[in-house]
Amino acid sequence: MFTCPSGSIGRQVKAFALRRLVSFLDSELGLSEFPKDESINGLQVEGKERVARIGIAVDACEYVFREAAAKGIDFLLVHHGLIWGGLRSIRGAARKRIKALLDADISLYACHLPLDWHPKYGNNAELLRVLSIKEMGEFGEYHGKRIGYWGRTGRPIPMDEFVKHVDKTLKTRSSYVDFRKKVRNVGVVSGGGWSAIHDAEELGIDTFLTGEPSHSAYHLAKEMGVNLIFAGHYATETFGVKAVGGMLKKKFGLPVEFIDSPTGL
Ligand SMILES: [Zn+2]
Repeated sequence: MFTCPSGSIGRQVKAFALRRLVSFLDSELGLSEFPKDESINGLQVEGKERVARIGIAVDACEYVFREAAAKGIDFLLVHHGLIWGGLRSIRGAARKRIKALLDADISLYACHLPLDWHPKYGNNAELLRVLSIKEMGEFGEYHGKRIGYWGRTGRPIPMDEFVKHVDKTLKTRSSYVDFRKKVRNVGVVSGGGWSAIHDAEELGIDTFLTGEPSHSAYHLAKEMGVNLIFAGHYATETFGVKAVGGMLKKKFGLPVEFIDSPTGL
């Protein structure tokens, strides 16, 4: 822990070395589980050497960076980072985003697929938990690894009742198609995870919940007899960063702030 010399501001400010925070997160979040993720996971932009204030958000975008700067955040953890595969140029929107971070000396840390999959902090495990679905196993293969989970509702629930429950809990408005009527087993893959529907048939899941609507999923779901719920990409992906934020607050005792920037998509 680093402590500011007392006298300058009259109170002690807790801060941790950026390097320590980054290596802790790299291992705690299991980044090495996903070497082929399109996202460059981990520290994408390096800022101040010491971190006293942490921000969390779903998307790396100019609005979030400006809010983080206004709130005096030193370290920002996001699910969707800035660098996917590589940088092609630093111009236009990319320049503005990077400039906002560098001007404020904010570090940017991204955690994509590991934060969908993670059994403790991941979007999908958290989705089941907040929806009060008892987790039974892994679900939803994506690039050769299951990143989602499936679970049981405990009693058969009519689809419209279950969708109301999802909308209320996730503060969203889902679109859905109902091919099975009652919901007993639910498989979840947050974000744009529609292709995981193939696993629903494989595992005998009656209801598949993902984020973004996909037209291609409709006929597959109909032929498989699987209910489909599209609850929104953003709405299904705030839980992972929030879970990590809660853990960091507890472990390091630093203030953590969620910067909300819903897309409605
Ligand atoms: Zn996503």
